Amino acid sequence: MSLIVQKFGGSSVADAEGVKRVARRIVDTKNAGNDVVVVVSAMGDTTDELLDLAGEVTSTIYPGRELDMLLTAGERISMAILAMAIHELGAKAQSFTGSQAGMITDGVHGAARLVEVNPDRIKESITEGNIAIVAGFQGINRETGDITTLGRGGSDTTAVALAAALNADVCEIYSDVDGVFTADPRVVSTAHKLDTVTSEEMLELAANGAKILHLRSVEYARRFNLKLHVRSSFSGLEGTVVIPTSSDELTPVNMKEIPLEQPLISGVAHDRSQAKITVVGVPDVPGSAAAVFGALSQADINLDMIVQNVPTDRPGVTDISLTLDQAQGQQALDALEAKREELGFSEVIYNEKVGKLSLVGAGMRSGSGVSFAFFDALSRAGVNVDMISTSEIRISVITDIDKLDDAVRAVHAAFGLDVEGEATVYGGTGR
Ligand code: ASP
Ligand code: MG
Repeated sequence: MSLIVQKFGGSSVADAEGVKRVARRIVDTKNAGNDVVVVVSAMGDTTDELLDLAGEVTSTIYPGRELDMLLTAGERISMAILAMAIHELGAKAQSFTGSQAGMITDGVHGAARLVEVNPDRIKESITEGNIAIVAGFQGINRETGDITTLGRGGSDTTAVALAAALNADVCEIYSDVDGVFTADPRVVSTAHKLDTVTSEEMLELAANGAKILHLRSVEYARRFNLKLHVRSSFSGLEGTVVIPTSSDELTPVNMKEIPLEQPLISGVAHDRSQAKITVVGVPDVPGSAAAVFGALSQADINLDMIVQNVPTDRPGVTDISLTLDQAQGQQALDALEAKREELGFSEVIYNEKVGKLSLVGAGMRSGSGVSFAFFDALSRAGVNVDMISTSEIRISVITDIDKLDDAVRAVHAAFGLDVEGEATVYGGTGR
């Protein structure tokens, strides 16, 4: 008998029909002789709708106790309604909030981190023959007793954390596409599904905008050596297995699953949520970069790319450009403005009309000519490159937001990733 954790995203349970379809799949898994623990997200766009509602009664929505209380209501609706749909099929199910399931977090509202997972009630429930259903993306802070959320998309992390704590055989993440694709099928209709991807590559894809898996869930699964299986709740297809290793950490166990010759490139990710800040005319002396980044770090701003260039026509000063999440844009501008005198810069330019494109592949390490082919594809598509950053297995650029989709398609084609007729988007509004 296996223990299987299944997580269903919002678009898989968008309406009553969806809930019934998912209930059927869960009961089939149970009837095949498995123990099943389910993690569920809020129905459809419920979380966004709750945020919109909050925006109607308050001028600034900021993370806090009440917002977390509000948002976790979304997952409580889906867990209860799913349990009822399972009862209707003649199986036993019990739903649990994050705190009932023992998801203990720190106190950071809106971005809480798990500090402990004690799924005793879940174990008890499955021992009694139930299917246990757990509300995703939430926990409780033990010190304050307050309800917290793990951040947008955090139900994946709930599922992985439960699977690790329960020592599950597999953690299945169900969404509205057939698995991990070489690009977002909503943008690239010729994208194809990967049968396997290493967690190393998946981390880069998720960190650079691929929304199929929550970044922290991939990190968590890798740490606990847990296999993730990404599949569609709408089709019976096999999906993608995320193998918890990097290609240079082969062990006898995972070696059989990783293709012997890793393809050069595993995919193209894109991100529309970034903004770019340029601090113009920073004095070109030791300590000024430290002062700029000190101001930003004091304000808890998470930075992504950083570029410093010395303009040749203005001796003694330099420009520093950086990218960050748009959601932190205003906070970053305020932090810099507050230190304008001390930092001695002349101006700050803020631009949200940027997009980030990333090419990811473990084979990049040994393959040559990747950079040329990448920039050549962008140039032939008429895409201007604004900033560049790289890791061992990734090249990223910042481009004009209006050029981003064209750029993604051009790079995807240039690396021979196009395939006709595989990319189906079954549901979701893409919100
Ligand atoms: N419902 C939450 C969100 O939309 C959590 C999740 O979907 O994983 O972000
Ligand atoms: Mg969601």
